[in-house]
Amino acid sequence: MRTYSIAAIPADGIGPEVINAGIQLLRSLEQRFPGLQFNIQQFDWGSDYYKQHGVMMPENGLEVLKHFNAIYFGAVGAADVPDHITLWGLRLPICQGFDQYANVRPTRVLPGISSPLRNCGPGDLDWIIVRENSEGEYSGHGGRAHRGLPEEVGTEVAIFTRTGVTRIMRYAFSLAQSRPRKQLTVVTKSNAQRHGMVMWDEIAAEVAQEFPDVSWDKMLVDAMTVRMTLHPQSLDTIVATNLHADILSDLAGALAGSLGVAPTANIDPERRFPSMFEPIHGSAFDITGKGIANPVASFWTAAQMLEHLGEHQAAETLMQAVENVCRAGIKTPDVGGSATTQQVTDAVAAAIMQTSAVAESVL
Ligand code: NAD
Ligand code: MN
Repeated sequence: MRTYSIAAIPADGIGPEVINAGIQLLRSLEQRFPGLQFNIQQFDWGSDYYKQHGVMMPENGLEVLKHFNAIYFGAVGAADVPDHITLWGLRLPICQGFDQYANVRPTRVLPGISSPLRNCGPGDLDWIIVRENSEGEYSGHGGRAHRGLPEEVGTEVAIFTRTGVTRIMRYAFSLAQSRPRKQLTVVTKSNAQRHGMVMWDEIAAEVAQEFPDVSWDKMLVDAMTVRMTLHPQSLDTIVATNLHADILSDLAGALAGSLGVAPTANIDPERRFPSMFEPIHGSAFDITGKGIANPVASFWTAAQMLEHLGEHQAAETLMQAVENVCRAGIKTPDVGGSATTQQVTDAVAAAIMQTSAVAESVL
């Protein structure tokens, strides 16, 4: 028996709706693959927990999570709790505490889902964006002086370390190497930002020597938005800073059809700690409780989790089942369908029992 312990933190808004849908499919995979077993423990951390206890998770939260093989996370955000509390109280402490420095965001146009780009169907847009997840523009350094006065100064300092840049670059080159096209685009803004960004370019060139079979190029982030929009076929694996990749991956999600299908994985590549898998979207108060949240992002990130755990066949089976259901037009309203979350989930569960996985990775 291959048994994995999974900490499920559905948290706020539509988080529980899409995570419970994903857990239903993990149970289907157990049936489909005897020998595979998930011990799933649910945690009620999040905004409701905060309203009762004054914290988003207990003080020993990381100590508790440390013992799991993976974390399956919904979303945080509540109308009556400030965003900085929900974000800095739960998601970011997990990312930082477990040094999940590689944030990996696959984007593809799934069959049956239309891109807002003309002539862009499945196969034309197939990217993986690697976001540096531990430093850069979101390191929290900076300050404000002379508050409220005309001479007030605010600084927002981006920190790039040789260790931090080298490790994300190695991760990105290695990921690019594992994909059929073996192609990496390194994004910076090194024409205008002359220090840390130039260091990015230099370290990229150094690390490239370790991966002679990967072809790579450099793009400035502004020009990158144009290339993503006009020539999506020209890109494969992409690596960028915390801020740049944050922005580019929202664009990528939109170009692939909806935020409701976009997954992300917060990975500790050295596997010292559990990695965390979540949809990119937030808690979506506007549709909470209506039963129409798109569960595809949650399913796709579950497939990323299975892949990370080494369960390639289960991951492929899950993604093929998702694609078959999308192709059949069983989809939620955000992508032009009329199905509920539960109908999509049941259809994918049924497809899991029918799909025969092939050897090639479809993530
Ligand atoms: P959001 O992602 O929650 O929603 C944006 C829009 O996309 C909404 O119209 C929503 O209905 C739609 N949408 C999102 N996911 C969907 C899905 N699965 N199916 C169908 N439609 C979907 O972003 P927002 O409205 O800016 O933020 C709401 C809250 O979520 C805020 O508190 C914000 O801070 C938080 N947030 C959390 C995360 C996270 O937990 N990782 C990420 C983004 C936003
Ligand atoms: Mn973002």
